[in-house]
Amino acid sequence: MWAAHTSNNQLTRNSDLNLLDAIAVPNSSIEELMGSCDGAMNTKQDPKIYRCSVDRLTPLNHDTSRVWLTVESGGRLEFKAGQYLEIILPSGKHCPFSIACAPANAEHLELHIRPTPGSDDSSQIEDLIRKPGCFEINAPKGDCIIDHVPDQPLLLLAASTGITQMKSLLEFLFDGEISKPISLYWGIVAPDDLYLHDLCVKWTSKFPLFSYTPVLSEPEESPTWDGATGLLADAVVTEVSDLSNHLAYISGGPAMVQATAKVLLDNGLPIDNIRSDLLPYITLD
Ligand SMILES: Cc1cc2nc3c(=O)[nH]c(=O)nc-3n(C[C@H](O)[C@H](O)[C@H](O)COP(=O)(O)OP(=O)(O)OC[C@H]3O[C@@H](n4cnc5c(N)ncnc54)[C@H](O)[C@@H]3O)c2cc1C
Repeated sequence: MWAAHTSNNQLTRNSDLNLLDAIAVPNSSIEELMGSCDGAMNTKQDPKIYRCSVDRLTPLNHDTSRVWLTVESGGRLEFKAGQYLEIILPSGKHCPFSIACAPANAEHLELHIRPTPGSDDSSQIEDLIRKPGCFEINAPKGDCIIDHVPDQPLLLLAASTGITQMKSLLEFLFDGEISKPISLYWGIVAPDDLYLHDLCVKWTSKFPLFSYTPVLSEPEESPTWDGATGLLADAVVTEVSDLSNHLAYISGGPAMVQATAKVLLDNGLPIDNIRSDLLPYITLD
């Protein structure tokens, strides 16, 4: 049976909310902004503050780094696949980052961090992870989790570093007995953004029910690309004729989550079958 939860299965209409401003918030959290969860968090840990240091930092491509955190104090961090943590900036602001590993593989916490050009928050995060010393995180966060292998076909739709959350979910799922198809769609702007491409291809060989489709949004900039192009959701509806029994996880920025959810709903995916950390922020008119 599915035990995949999000904080709110009802889509809210909150057009006044500045979605991007809501992503990183001072002394607060996405869930506090979202309100309470539908009783789906019983088995989850409440978030608390841990002190961490960076164990390793390696480049994944031209802009994204893989960061391995060691929890130095606060005890062992228990989390569910799909959850995120918040890096706490010196100003007190909390910046969310998905945990890229499954709980069983979490001797160190794996993050994929892509700096945002021109963002002061992003510069502060880079300082914290690249300079020696400890910093605080608030974790675990998020209700967009999987803690049982599904009995429904699963769509995982990620834009850019949204793949981080999907990696955690997939590593958890691949440790279990998969009986339904799992389809990963990864939306990128340029081919070099596919920093986990080899791993995803390897998974397709190892797990027959797993499929992987990279989708390029700006093909005119990459004339040699011969894969799928356009919007992620369009790639899904081109390949999947009946969405009525699928469960979709969507990870990316608010505009991507909104556009993707709309297309999936318009093509028959039930509203209760959509999972995303940003679901409460999007409008579906
Ligand atoms: C739940 C959640 C998880 C996130 N996980 C990551 C992550 O694993 N790696 C990372 O580099 N950034 C992630 N972000 C974005 C990260 O929090 C910001 O980049 C960071 O706080 C710096 O803020 P900013 O104002 O510079 O960027 P923002 O303007 O807040 O965001 C910039 C970038 O983050 C991306 N982003 C936004 N939401 C998500 C999301 N849900 N998942 C993945 N990417 C997202 C956007 O597409 C954009 O490219 C996440 C954001 C949220 C809400």
